[in-house]
Amino acid sequence: MTGWYRLKRRVPCMERKVNEHLQGAMMQRSPPGAALRPAVEPVEVKTYLAPRSLDEATEALRSGAVTILAGGTDLMPQSKTGRARFHPTLMNIRRIPELRGISEEFGVVRIGALTTVTELMESALIRSRLNALWQACDHFASDQLRNAATIGGNICNASPAGDLLVPLLVFDSQVALASKPKGEITTRTMPLRDFFVAPGRTRRAPDELVTTIEVPLPDERFISAFFKFGTRPALDISAISIGLGATSADGMLTNVRVAFGAVAPTPIRAPQTEAALEGRPLAAVIEAALAAADAEISPISDIRASEWYRRELIRNILREMLDHVGQH
Ligand SMILES: Cc1cc2nc3c(=O)[nH]c(=O)nc-3n(C[C@H](O)[C@H](O)[C@H](O)COP(=O)(O)OP(=O)(O)OC[C@H]3O[C@@H](n4cnc5c(N)ncnc54)[C@H](O)[C@@H]3O)c2cc1C
Repeated sequence: MTGWYRLKRRVPCMERKVNEHLQGAMMQRSPPGAALRPAVEPVEVKTYLAPRSLDEATEALRSGAVTILAGGTDLMPQSKTGRARFHPTLMNIRRIPELRGISEEFGVVRIGALTTVTELMESALIRSRLNALWQACDHFASDQLRNAATIGGNICNASPAGDLLVPLLVFDSQVALASKPKGEITTRTMPLRDFFVAPGRTRRAPDELVTTIEVPLPDERFISAFFKFGTRPALDISAISIGLGATSADGMLTNVRVAFGAVAPTPIRAPQTEAALEGRPLAAVIEAALAAADAEISPISDIRASEWYRRELIRNILREMLDHVGQH
């Protein structure tokens, strides 16, 4: 009863908020007496959809000219600055049950695209077996943001600094996309590492919806960690982030996975760094691994950090993480 009540109250409230926000984004106040005029072109949303099934959503997406809204924590601020341009149809996907939930079957964890950062943090499975992902959630913004921000939105926003992307790369995750090109739902899956093209750009076709993130469960002995550095300890976008995963035994790492955020146009895996570390006495290869990491990143200077500072952060924090893993 409580859940039903909350749902009934929350959905119209959210739709009202979306509409109010869109009105704000569409119109900017002109000098007194002047007519309201659009702030960003083309931004006029003519149709608002809130499908209740994957079937309805993929049908609506067939035209391709649809803006997808999940938690809205990227889309809404971006619509204000003009970075996001709405299509004539705005589709709120939050009522689609097929996009929710975390489950495990045959050694694969399936995370619905609408899973929020809070829900990831509350999952015992994520905490115990995909700990770097849990740690990234623990460093993610504030409680309010975590309650709204979804994993699908983090992936589709494709920020080089997206916090969940780095651990998801470490875990060799796959992205499942659904569309309805010929009247029936078709699904394709691709490795997350191939999904990102450039800042804000992915291989998702305009008629596709990200439905699930599939994460192969690593071996029980596999350990993983995530570290994010920002100019403030909380509520900050990463200046750099590092994800590390491996099995550690006898002073050596095997099955090594290293990923970096905010040091290239997309979040990246670092195969040369991984190769330098794989299966050799850790103490002897740390310097070679740090040199490989420096060669694999291509950071820029921006308001959050200079290129030099980002390189120093990667070098020093990766060293610290490796020292820590070596003590296991
Ligand atoms: C104050 C603040 C702090 C933040 N802090 C952090 C932080 O610490 N770490 C971090 O990584 N991010 C942070 N963000 C960014 C943002 O919260 C995340 O990227 C979040 O995960 C986006 O999810 P969402 O559901 O809100 O996406 P939305 O804003 O709804 O959508 C983002 C993009 O993805 C598309 N999209 C969403 N879902 C789907 C889907 N299933 N299929 C296809 N396309 C889809 C949308 O069309 C849009 O282009 C912050 C944002 C704000 C405003």
